[in-house]
Amino acid sequence: MDQDETTAQLSLFGLEPEPEPEAPRRSPEPARIPEQRAAEVPLCPSCHREGSPPEQHARDIAQQWLEITAAGQIAVRRFCAACQPHFGLEFLACELCGLDLFLIGELAHEVASDRLPTVLLTWLAAEGWSPHPVLTCPSHAR
Ligand SMILES: [Zn+2]
Ligand SMILES: [Zn+2]
Repeated sequence: MDQDETTAQLSLFGLEPEPEPEAPRRSPEPARIPEQRAAEVPLCPSCHREGSPPEQHARDIAQQWLEITAAGQIAVRRFCAACQPHFGLEFLACELCGLDLFLIGELAHEVASDRLPTVLLTWLAAEGWSPHPVLTCPSHAR
């Protein structure tokens, strides 16, 4: 009788075999990201070089450098660490957050002499900067 009981229990457990997990309809395709380092690292608009580390390079390129063109307009230039100007610079910075604009050439000379050319004021206003009461960036201009 012990034997019967054991058999009964075994058959009880054996009746319902573990259901096979359903095979997934489609196998998950691993997202294949083609390795395009050149696309991830933006090239410097001025010298068309990559820089490293890429994060720093991207920050360098994001910096706006302003100059006055021959036509008397404000032009935004962008440089990497390798090709950026190292002298004759001036800076305008938001009084609240320190976000700054780099000025080069004649424009730097003007600002260094405490002059803000009208074309610069116009450009700043168009970009959302406010010169009064203190210079503030687009995020902080009222
Ligand atoms: Zn460069
Ligand atoms: Zn600011």
